Amino acid sequence: MAVRIYNTLTRSLETLEPRSDQGSTLSLYTCGPTVYAHAHIGNFRAYVFEDLLQRHLQARGFTVRRVMNLTDVDDKTIRGAHAAGVSLGEFTAPFKKAFFEDAETLCLLKAEAYPEATDPVEIARMISMIGTLIERDHAYQAEDGSVYFRIGSFPDYGKLAHVDLEGQRPGQRVASDEYDKEAVADFALWKSWVAEDGAVGWESPWGRGRPGWHIECSAMATGLLGETIDIHCGGVDNIFPHHEAEIAQCECAGQGHAPFVRYWMHCAHLKVEGSKMAKSQGNFFTLRDLIEKGWTGREIRYVLLGVHYRAALNFTIEGLGAARTALARLDAWYERLTELGGSSTSLEAPPAVTEGFFTALDDDLNISGALAVLFETMRESNRRIDQCELTPAQALGLLAWYERVNSVLALEPRDDSDETPPEVDRLIAARFAARAEKDWKQSDELRDRLATLGWVVKDTKDGQRVSKG
Ligand code: AMP
Ligand code: ZN
Repeated sequence: MAVRIYNTLTRSLETLEPRSDQGSTLSLYTCGPTVYAHAHIGNFRAYVFEDLLQRHLQARGFTVRRVMNLTDVDDKTIRGAHAAGVSLGEFTAPFKKAFFEDAETLCLLKAEAYPEATDPVEIARMISMIGTLIERDHAYQAEDGSVYFRIGSFPDYGKLAHVDLEGQRPGQRVASDEYDKEAVADFALWKSWVAEDGAVGWESPWGRGRPGWHIECSAMATGLLGETIDIHCGGVDNIFPHHEAEIAQCECAGQGHAPFVRYWMHCAHLKVEGSKMAKSQGNFFTLRDLIEKGWTGREIRYVLLGVHYRAALNFTIEGLGAARTALARLDAWYERLTELGGSSTSLEAPPAVTEGFFTALDDDLNISGALAVLFETMRESNRRIDQCELTPAQALGLLAWYERVNSVLALEPRDDSDETPPEVDRLIAARFAARAEKDWKQSDELRDRLATLGWVVKDTKDGQRVSKG
């Protein structure tokens, strides 16, 4: 079955095809976090969308080679380190660690590599790439000592963001990493050292300085995945100037002017309660803020993946509540199937309509269509269990199907706190012993103590089952 995706470059739906010499392998580059703060749920919307994409492609038999960078030197990280009065490395280290912990909380697949911009190997790649661009007259060193990309030398500049170069005055320059389309101008590849950079800087043929944000991604992406990358993702805010600049740099520094990226995919932004997320609005959430409020990674993941990636996602607390309810229904259904199917030795294939889950995702990751198939399958099989119509072999078939579904949704393990803390383990063991002694009073007391710690214990024929309440 062909997978179709919307390519920002062509503004059209296209069938995803690996390159003819790559078998079923697709390379995927995803712009990673700028580690100057804890990633917020908007960032995680982008990462969850990329995770869904990777998982669905894998479910469809593709091998995905994914690289995600960490931006650990740029305007924002330098400003942050300066304000905190610590070195750049000391400043970014806790945010890197937090990012990986958060990624685990949200069940994100690990990338093959997480290159860091300050890695000397990567800095050397950036310097070499800038050197090539100067040699080919696509870049120049200006009076301020910094090196700029000459956008007038690349007629394709603007092809991704559909920027019109008309009205651009030659030689106009912009040094900051982020700017809007009105400020379209030659952008910085290498920023010459200034006092605010403090100890941050590397030697280069153009003097001491540091790379611009865009060249970081260009060098890390092509260095690890080759001159042409199949899929490159990010949020819509990355289209301009970041991805536009990446194209210019890579296509001008490459060997045969090969296209840098074949399919560009961008997710729309996340808003909170209908407004742009902003600290000043009091509606700014990191993942940790929500976990502290008692929501689980599983619930947050469900909300983040539940809206089509190209539609704006309105994140609400009500939506989290709805996720909790939907997941409880899923768990109840799963438990019923496990109980019924447990006694079966054979498996019957699920109804053909269930394949609709995957065909919906083939259609530019139509998650609403896919979830509709899941919930309709749950409704119908629950009805059949109620009527004693579903056989154990059919229950097992549905469970096998759900395993495939879950390889894409990653909603299991049921929550991110599957690992029970030691004190909970002790209480469960004590309760097991009490029940073996038929000491029901003690068993109930232990259940209450577990409840006060936030754990719900259920007695099934396979023993005690605990879950986060
Ligand atoms: P940054 O750390 O700012 O470089 O952003 C990391 C990723 O998060 C990029 O792909 C951004 O496009 C994406 N991103 C940032 N803010 C949002 C948002 N509110 N909604 C969705 N994606 C976002
Ligand atoms: Zn990037």
